[in-house]
Amino acid sequence: MIPYGKQNISEEDIAAVTEVLRSDYLTQGSKVPEFEQKIAEYCGVPHAVASNSATSALHLACLALGLGQGDVLWTSPITFVASANCALYCGASVDFVDIDPKTRNLCPEKLAEKLAAAKVSGRLPKIVVPVHFCGEPCDMAKIHALSKEYGFKIIEDASHAIGASHQNGKVGNCQFSDITVFSFHPVKIITTAEGGVATTRDVHLANKMAQLRSHGITRQADEMQGKTHGDWYYQQVDLGYNYRMTEMQAALGVSQMRRLDEFVSRRHQLAAQYDDLLANLPVVLPFRQPENRSALHLYPIWVQPEKRKFIFDDLRQNGVGVNVHYIPVHTQPHYRERFGFQAGDFPNAEDYYAGAISLPLYFDLSNEQQKQVVEILKQALQAA
Ligand SMILES: *Cc1c(COP(=O)(O)O)cnc(C)c1O
Repeated sequence: MIPYGKQNISEEDIAAVTEVLRSDYLTQGSKVPEFEQKIAEYCGVPHAVASNSATSALHLACLALGLGQGDVLWTSPITFVASANCALYCGASVDFVDIDPKTRNLCPEKLAEKLAAAKVSGRLPKIVVPVHFCGEPCDMAKIHALSKEYGFKIIEDASHAIGASHQNGKVGNCQFSDITVFSFHPVKIITTAEGGVATTRDVHLANKMAQLRSHGITRQADEMQGKTHGDWYYQQVDLGYNYRMTEMQAALGVSQMRRLDEFVSRRHQLAAQYDDLLANLPVVLPFRQPENRSALHLYPIWVQPEKRKFIFDDLRQNGVGVNVHYIPVHTQPHYRERFGFQAGDFPNAEDYYAGAISLPLYFDLSNEQQKQVVEILKQALQAA
């Protein structure tokens, strides 16, 4: 089966991990700070805080921004559930902003309308989480301008988007947000097996996230109440978690970062080839803004909803491990039951979902495999 996404692990990656296994520190050594430094340098941002997943990084980001009971977080319905669940972990509630049918990202105009209405009803969000779907950057300048007008914080869910850039530099530079989160799950652009990172320009947010990642404990005298007792001393000043990344994961991350641009370039090559190979077929191709550089985590095509299941099953039966990104989060039973969302609440997201199929896209996908995928798709489209 050709999967829809897959990691690439080199001999150098393996050597980097085994070197850590032979060393003194498997956790809390120098590799995590080194990885954080590499991410920060790459993105052009002063601070990066690594954690054991993007899900934990999103949770830490919400906590650091003070999200709690009575607060609301808004995000896109076309995302993985983790973009919304982070608010529920904090005791806050969740609402959604429908997508732009062209970019499939959270629609800035819809956001503006919803904010104007929320201001009247007194239910403005504390945090908005734009998701760079497929690695294609959202219109952050517009969302940022709205955050100034309405006073909300911004967490970019850039789980798909390490290596992407927009008009103002690399995604992760936080020019238009408080915090940006990346994921290093094996299907994403680079991997640490499990892992995530949060970047920020704000030293206080960085310190808070680092503290909460490790039980809410500090060893810095200036963060303590009263005086330190000595070099052994630490204080728990908040309720945190164990969300730490291991040294093996960080070593893999440092090694993978060296090839990040190469990974993204190959994804662009493959996407351009898909664009050509699929040009005359009855499918809608994914959108890319010419002035952005997507990280191209996914290549989702859109087919007629009545035919989607047939085409999906046919591809799977013929060895193409297609997938669907995403089932709109508001239609998940947990969200329906908890908040009363219904089918029809976010029609653009639901229409998009009804026809979406993600084709295989990853560094090691060969041109021959790609042509084979397209041939099988052609036959499926004809038969459907
Ligand atoms: C993968 C993903 C996450 C969660 O990442 P983990 O590292 O697996 O916790 C969150 N948001 C989006 C949009 C994702 O694709």
